[in-house]
Amino acid sequence: MTFTELWHELEPLGRDPGTGGYRRYSWTEADAQCRAWFTAKATNLGLAVEADNNGNLWAWWGDTRENAVVTGSHLDSVPDGGGYDGALGVVSALAAVEMLKDKNFYPERPVVLALFTEEEGARFRVPCLGSRLMTGAIAPETARALTDDDGITLAQAMTAAGHDASAISPREDLLGRIGAFVELHVEQGRALAPLDAAVGIAKGIWPHGRWRLDFQGRADHAGTARFADRKDPMLPYARTVLAARRAAADNGALATIGKVIAEPGGANGVSSAVIAWLDARAPDEARLEATVTTVRSAAMRYSKECGVTLSARQESYTPPVHFDQRLRDRIADVLAAAGMQAPVLATGAGHDAGVLAARMPTAMLFVRNPTGVSHSPAEHADLADCEAGVRALALVLEDLACQ
Ligand SMILES: [Zn+2]
Repeated sequence: MTFTELWHELEPLGRDPGTGGYRRYSWTEADAQCRAWFTAKATNLGLAVEADNNGNLWAWWGDTRENAVVTGSHLDSVPDGGGYDGALGVVSALAAVEMLKDKNFYPERPVVLALFTEEEGARFRVPCLGSRLMTGAIAPETARALTDDDGITLAQAMTAAGHDASAISPREDLLGRIGAFVELHVEQGRALAPLDAAVGIAKGIWPHGRWRLDFQGRADHAGTARFADRKDPMLPYARTVLAARRAAADNGALATIGKVIAEPGGANGVSSAVIAWLDARAPDEARLEATVTTVRSAAMRYSKECGVTLSARQESYTPPVHFDQRLRDRIADVLAAAGMQAPVLATGAGHDAGVLAARMPTAMLFVRNPTGVSHSPAEHADLADCEAGVRALALVLEDLACQ
């Protein structure tokens, strides 16, 4: 099947008819459909599909099980996510293998297609859960107890989907069989568009983290409490949003407050508390720390001025990822020899490749996103660019698998 045929088959699965966005949350019906689709397509290509104990799928091509060249991505989505994030890497991997088979290529090293579970963390709040479980970056008992918004644990969700959650465990044996991992992904920014390049190579992933800010004030009456008497947590919160934007811009970083809860949430009252989540990312750890320190001290100062108390704590932190230089250079050479100039770019988005980079030579290919919009139904890549991505991935797999 061509890229387009594969794409159109996958397209309707898990799509919300109202918003046009995807709701492919792990261990749901939509997720089961995506897994079944991947299994059928890989099986049709003659690959041996195996589910591991952590919920990831592996489709093997080749006689041996050593020094594998692995490619793949994820099919889960954020709430109302776009169609390309994750899916483009999976469909491109299937299309690339088909392209290699069509030209009668046979790999000396096994080529393996991987489908990672819960990459977005949309249901159980831990991103890259499948690769984290595999590498031991999260303890099995911690993972089993993770809950979704309805209080369902990961263990319960996996069990309901017919998987044995008690078998979750790190897989050193499987990791030891992988010689390299290459993930193709839609670009989640607009770096390639002005460079006239359909495909880029990832240099690394920015360090990033999430901080929770609790502004504690005092509930009061909107119609009777004088301004001078109020302890309104909304005021320091609002100023902090602006301060975060400024601090990030000054440091060449990014800072976003995308989630906020006002308590108790009455339209005719002063809030008792405002809880906000700061997501911050920067090209290096020094600039990230400078940004977050500035935001925290600004939030502290504004809170004091308004008689509000502030508590701030880090909820997650991911150090910078530098993809393997030798693998990167090799991929750049292979693509250049085929007449594809692929610029090297850094990204602020996390990926399974970022988790696996700590354990094996890892690389990423990005496919141009003309608007840069991602995590949205408006996410897009042109067909010609997707096809260039498939060609690039096939070239890379062919090169890596025949040494
Ligand atoms: Zn993704």
